[in-house]
Amino acid sequence: MRVARRVESVKPSATLRISSIAKQLAKEGKDVVDMSVGEPDFKTPQRIIDSAYKAMNEGKVFYTPTKGIPELLNAIAEKMRKENRVDATAENVIVTPGAKFAIYEAIMALIDEGDEVILLDPSWVSYEACVLLAGGKVVWVPHNEDFSDAPIEDYVTQKTKMVIINTPSNPLGVVYGKDFLKKVRDLAVEKDLFVMADEIYEKIIFEGVHYSLASFDGMFERTITINGFSKTYSMTGWRIGYAVAPKWIIEKMNIIQSHSVSHPTSFVQFAALEALKNGDEFLKQMVLEFKARRDMITEKLEELGIRYAPPKGAFYIFMNVGRDGDEFCEEFLKKEFVALTPGSAFGVSFGNWVRLSYATSRERISEFLRRLERFIS
Ligand code: PMP
Ligand code: GLU
Repeated sequence: MRVARRVESVKPSATLRISSIAKQLAKEGKDVVDMSVGEPDFKTPQRIIDSAYKAMNEGKVFYTPTKGIPELLNAIAEKMRKENRVDATAENVIVTPGAKFAIYEAIMALIDEGDEVILLDPSWVSYEACVLLAGGKVVWVPHNEDFSDAPIEDYVTQKTKMVIINTPSNPLGVVYGKDFLKKVRDLAVEKDLFVMADEIYEKIIFEGVHYSLASFDGMFERTITINGFSKTYSMTGWRIGYAVAPKWIIEKMNIIQSHSVSHPTSFVQFAALEALKNGDEFLKQMVLEFKARRDMITEKLEELGIRYAPPKGAFYIFMNVGRDGDEFCEEFLKKEFVALTPGSAFGVSFGNWVRLSYATSRERISEFLRRLERFIS
């Protein structure tokens, strides 16, 4: 009696695991500062909550089309055309229970046993896991010194099928510039590769400009754009995200969806529609708050001489602690009750780095900075 090989090749999500340890310690009465999980700490805007409630009351509690309700598919396509310059219609969209499931479906639909998928080192934890579950192979590509570029061209082989780009990046906080994205475009077109563009943090940017890879010439037909509502509208627990891609890919993803989760929760889809229509004011306030928090942290890191990747977007800081990051995180949690995520969770060459998520209040961040200074001195 043994489990399938595919589940032996992956570990549970490090980000979610550490956050559950932190929650357990807090439950035991410890004064924990949890900077591990990437989850906005704001309540979902009231009008979004109200719209879910309204949908339920109106009896929108039954199965929906597997791809999602037409109103939401249309609103997402319109958003892509207006904001991202991506020429999508409803047939290019699938709504999923969380962006994570869109990633899973796209990889399951496109990656075969032995296919190679290029990931920038470091990358968010679930890409590698999904590739492994599909039987694919991850090829890690290092960044340059300031994390603005990566020599992807040197790592493409006959077996390369997909490149995954996440901008703004989790765990780096980096916002990739047009030159780098153009290079990815040229390579993808020349070598006939798929690109997965995870743009879930597109609206959480403090410096720089967001470019959608699918808007570059010749890219729409090979790009799967991933996005969602978790981060932008503080809706992590609602589980709602989406993918935008050529119709034939969406249709294959929809087959997986129809046989696994059927569709995202009916009334949550109505809440997502409200978020797209009227969520911008909330978002503006949230981004200002994240920027203020980032500035508080980077000021202290400069003072302490700690090196970090340029945090221009999302809500993470990836920093070099100058010693084994796993040990650092374990000791920091045991001694000071601060939860961070070790860099080793995100790739292969960041053993001495750790990620912190500043999706927590300024008061908690001040406490974190006090404990950090005490811990390292
Ligand atoms: N992509 C990235 C880069 C993320 O950080 C996350 C956070 N979980 C996701 C996708 C998945 O988000 P969701 O909560 O919508 O599944
Ligand atoms: N994306 C968040 C993080 O990186 C949430 C946890 C997860 O889904 O892995 O912490």
